[in-house]
Amino acid sequence: MTWEFSLPVKIYFGTDKIKELPKIIEELGYKRGVLVCSNTLKKNGVAEEIIENSNGKLVATFSDIRPNPTTDNVNACVKALRENNADFAVALGGGSPMDCCKAACAIAKGDDIIESYHTGGKPINKDEVIPMIAVATTSGTGSEITNISVLTDLLKNVKSTMNDPLMYPKAAIVDPRLTLSVPPKVTASTGLDVLAHALESVWSVLHQPICESCSVHATKLVFEWLYKAYSEPQNLEAREKMAEASIVAGVAFSNPRTAGSHACSFPLTNLYGVPHGEACAMTLDFFTRFNAEAENGRLNKFARDCGFSDAYALADAISDLKKKMGMAMTLTEIGVETSEEIETLTKMSMTPLMERNIIPLSYDDIKNMYISMK
Ligand code: ZN
Repeated sequence: MTWEFSLPVKIYFGTDKIKELPKIIEELGYKRGVLVCSNTLKKNGVAEEIIENSNGKLVATFSDIRPNPTTDNVNACVKALRENNADFAVALGGGSPMDCCKAACAIAKGDDIIESYHTGGKPINKDEVIPMIAVATTSGTGSEITNISVLTDLLKNVKSTMNDPLMYPKAAIVDPRLTLSVPPKVTASTGLDVLAHALESVWSVLHQPICESCSVHATKLVFEWLYKAYSEPQNLEAREKMAEASIVAGVAFSNPRTAGSHACSFPLTNLYGVPHGEACAMTLDFFTRFNAEAENGRLNKFARDCGFSDAYALADAISDLKKKMGMAMTLTEIGVETSEEIETLTKMSMTPLMERNIIPLSYDDIKNMYISMK
């Protein structure tokens, strides 16, 4: 077994860590930045407070970003960075502002549009990149410590990832207090995304020891704390544990990446509007069973390390957790009706991410899975 591990992001973790943002900007020597955030954070005053406390270093806000950001969102963000002559950006929010900001910063000093890089094959050029600081307000994507940006090109009808070593944030601030206002349904979905990252990195063909140890830790935390964070939103301890799970799962999948459940999540989100984490969770228990016996039962051993009797017990626990939090369990409830729709879902799920599964899965395997989910 050979592997490489690198994570060049400095992580600042803990309650009220957000107050250190001005000091961090100062230490990094940045002069003029744009705050990239969701509209919700602009409206509820969180963005404004961060700008006011930035010692004049944040000069503008960009918030025109939809959930599951589009390449159009990125191009508009790039425009804001260029117009403001920004030498850095702060991304504030969940995965969408992070992914948008990450891609925008990667080409900010150039003169091209993101599509050239996203689907056009143009490599990221270090002379066009400006640095980014990521501030997480949900416990889920782990995007604050990865170099991955997931973008949708509406014109080409493609949702795919962009990643490059130059796309890592310089610093990530994870302050659990910022997650207290996340509503239960979003807590459930983002928390299940954490679980998907932890598990998929284990059954990715790119799995490796450092990341697998992180997966064990993150998986245990999710099963111990996610339901509490969901049912008691103001429980700071539960929020802190889920923030920890999110960042540790982020380390877990930073190098092995994700696999089948994420591959299936893309059409479930794009065609049926299922939120990202909930969409990943829809097939997570199925993939746990698919992969259970692979590589001499490696997943069974992982499941035992996490406190389950085997991978099948882990799969059952995933189903129970989803059910308890009111997540979608069948295709019918998200609006899939015909067998043509199942064909389309299957076709769109067979992406390169599917090939990362330690067990090779065919078109028919995935189609039969979807049929059993009706
Ligand atoms: Zn995810």
